[in-house]
Amino acid sequence: MARILIAEDEPRIVAFLEKGLRAEGYTTMAVGDGVEAASLARDDTFDLLILDLGLPGRDGREVLRELRMRGERLPIIVLTARDGIDDTVGSLEQGADDYVTKPFRFEELLARVRLRLRTAPAEETTVLTAGEVSLDLRSRRATNGSRTIDLTAREFALLEAFLRHPGQVLSREQLLSRVWGYDFDPGSNVVDVYVRYLRKKLGGDVIETVRGMGYRLCAEA
Ligand code: CA
Repeated sequence: MARILIAEDEPRIVAFLEKGLRAEGYTTMAVGDGVEAASLARDDTFDLLILDLGLPGRDGREVLRELRMRGERLPIIVLTARDGIDDTVGSLEQGADDYVTKPFRFEELLARVRLRLRTAPAEETTVLTAGEVSLDLRSRRATNGSRTIDLTAREFALLEAFLRHPGQVLSREQLLSRVWGYDFDPGSNVVDVYVRYLRKKLGGDVIETVRGMGYRLCAEA
C-alpha cells in the first residue's frame, strides 16, 4: 500500500490526516518541520507528500522548490490557508501537483490523494450506488429509484460518506471529520441533525441508527 509523508506542524491536523488515511489503508509518517520533511522526501520511500506551506524550520515553499530543483518527482499535495491565493498559484508554479485549502474535509483531500496515486481505479467511478440510492459525483445529482433528490452541499457530502461505506457503521466522529472537517466541535449534534434531513429526503429506512455506535446505510435500501 502507498506510503504517505505528512509535513504539518499542527497536531490536530496531523491526527485528523493520519487517522483518516490509515483507515483507508495507507501507511503514513508525519513530521512537523520543513528540514526533516525535505530530507525524508528525498529518501524515495514515499509515494506522496502532503506538505503544509507554513512550517517551522524551513517553509513549505522552500521545501517544494528544493525538491523540484533536485528533480524529485514525488507527487506533492500542498495545504494552503483559505486566503492564500498567491500561495496556491505559487505552489502550482513551483511544481506542486495539487492543493487543498484549509480548513478542508477529509473526503476532499482523499479524492486528491487517490487521483495522485491512482491506486484505486474503481474510485474513478463517478457514480456511487447502494440499493436504490445513487449519487452522481460529477453532475452532483442524487436519486432514489427514479426520483431525483435535491440535496444541499452538506447533505450531499454526508450521503457520499455513507455511499463510500455501504453497510458499514460510521460513528458520529467519523462522519464529523469526513463531512465537516477537523474544525468542528466533537460535541456537536450536527451529524444527527443532518442524518434527520437526509432521512426526510430519502425515506426513513435508508439510514439506520446503530445504538451507541452511529449510523449505517442499508445497502439493500
Ligand atoms: Ca502550519
